[in-house]
Amino acid sequence: MSDCIFCKIAAGEIPAQKVFEDELVVAFKDLSPKAPVHVLIIPKKHVAGVNNLTADDKNFVAHIFVDVVPKLAAELGIADGGFRLVVNTGDDGGQTVHHLHVHLLGGRKMTWPPG
Ligand code: AMP
Ligand code: ZN
Repeated sequence: MSDCIFCKIAAGEIPAQKVFEDELVVAFKDLSPKAPVHVLIIPKKHVAGVNNLTADDKNFVAHIFVDVVPKLAAELGIADGGFRLVVNTGDDGGQTVHHLHVHLLGGRKMTWPPG
């Protein structure tokens, strides 16, 4: 989508601190980190959010959870201590960027419930 900031990051049209990229996904540091480690993992394909996923998207959803998160958590040194994955969805979920993204947060003790 031409006016989507995360599509532009995926396409390399605007800068981001990328920590991983392959044919399906890009991961980059959040501009406004909420923890010592705060990375966003996005599909290269524009999908607005969880409500917009289709059966065709199972590939990248599984890839994120099975391959990318464990790899990044290990590389970023948060696998053993633990981490939090967040997918804000819609207005009540606090989603501000309408391109599906998984927050990977770690490096500090998280609290519950979230705000
Ligand atoms: P959400 O509130 O779940 O939609 O999260 C959007 C996240 O994107 C926020 O944590 C922002 O700090 C982050 N963000 C917005 N623009 C950029 C950008 N250009 N580069 C990196 N992170 C961004
Ligand atoms: Zn997009």
